[in-house]
Amino acid sequence: MTTSVTAYAAPAPKAPLERTTIERRPVGEHDILIEIAYAGICHSDIHQAREEWGSALFPMVPGHEIAGIVTEVGSGVTKYAVGDRVGVGCFVDSCRECENCLAGDEQYCLKGEVATYNGKAYDGSPTYGGYSTHIVVDENYAVRIPDGLSLDVAAPLLCAGITLYSPLDHWNAGPGKKVAIVGLGGLGHMGVKIAHAMGAEVTVLSQSLRKKDDGLRLGADRFYATSDESTFAELAGTFDLIINTVSANIPLDAYLSLLKREGTMVHVGGPEFPSSFNQFSLIMGRKSMAGSKIGGIRQTQEMLDFCARHGFGAEIEVITADRINEAYERVVSSDVRYRFVIDIASLKG
Ligand code: NAP
Ligand code: ZN
Repeated sequence: MTTSVTAYAAPAPKAPLERTTIERRPVGEHDILIEIAYAGICHSDIHQAREEWGSALFPMVPGHEIAGIVTEVGSGVTKYAVGDRVGVGCFVDSCRECENCLAGDEQYCLKGEVATYNGKAYDGSPTYGGYSTHIVVDENYAVRIPDGLSLDVAAPLLCAGITLYSPLDHWNAGPGKKVAIVGLGGLGHMGVKIAHAMGAEVTVLSQSLRKKDDGLRLGADRFYATSDESTFAELAGTFDLIINTVSANIPLDAYLSLLKREGTMVHVGGPEFPSSFNQFSLIMGRKSMAGSKIGGIRQTQEMLDFCARHGFGAEIEVITADRINEAYERVVSSDVRYRFVIDIASLKG
């Protein structure tokens, strides 16, 4: 039998989110039931609830930064027990047999992984995300939240954390590497913390100097305003790696000019509209432009353990569920320090 649980949902594209009830599937043999404690608000939730990434499924219960406690396990579950602290990120299933799944890169599943929300399970049923009191997931698509991390600051790691950890690891951020993080929002602030912990020299490229003190406190060595033309002249040819976390279009040629010879600019931000650039911005210096999407389950666990070892989670502002719509407006106007996290207890009762 399914179970009715309370959730916050967008009933239609661009409509404000409102309290509602959804059904969760019965706990199957390999499933765990999670009582959600906190859910982060990712800019991707907003893009999808507003249909900025093409047509979406409604009603939509966003939320793919989920942290909670296991309250029930199926008969075949071996990894988790009742009482365990777990997280769920952006996907809840994948084909498990394509070359990408077998490589631990389930986020690039060739059959198409099952998104935590705004997706369909392989049986065709719609998926609903973390702005809800409970979720049922296959144990192989959950990760363990290390004891040293509290659930509220851990929640944003499930998307923002892994989305920055994965490319920083892949492109070898570390001692001797100069890394720039473009945009100091939810993703960007995790990029600063993680790249700093990896030993790289970190520069923040933000629209203004408004967040400079925060950026330096989070671990940045340098902080520049991109609204200041002289920034681009001063930093020309500086970086080995630039990670672009911006949710809007930015002038790519200007940023590519900041790369060293053979440097790479990696896009993780997903603006509504395509961008264009001049090929000569790459040709002059054998530069690369790349993209990266979250990370696999194994690497997500590695990232959580890395953050716990280094003693940090996200910088958060905890809100009650009735403030989700207001939080969306603040995220869109770059007024987030640095992740809104919904206290799911506020959904109960
Ligand atoms: P966010 O918290 O809103 O941060 C984005 C930051 O970009 C803002 O804080 C702001 O930083 C900067 N920015 C915003 N508008 C700008 C503009 N017009 N020009 C220049 N800079 C601007 O969003 P987020 O949750 O970090 O997500 C960022 C993007 O990544 C979104 O598009 C999201 O969908 C995408 N995303 C991708 C993945 C993936 O797997 N690739 C995963 C999660 C999210 P400053 O104030 O410092 O300028
Ligand atoms: Zn996200």
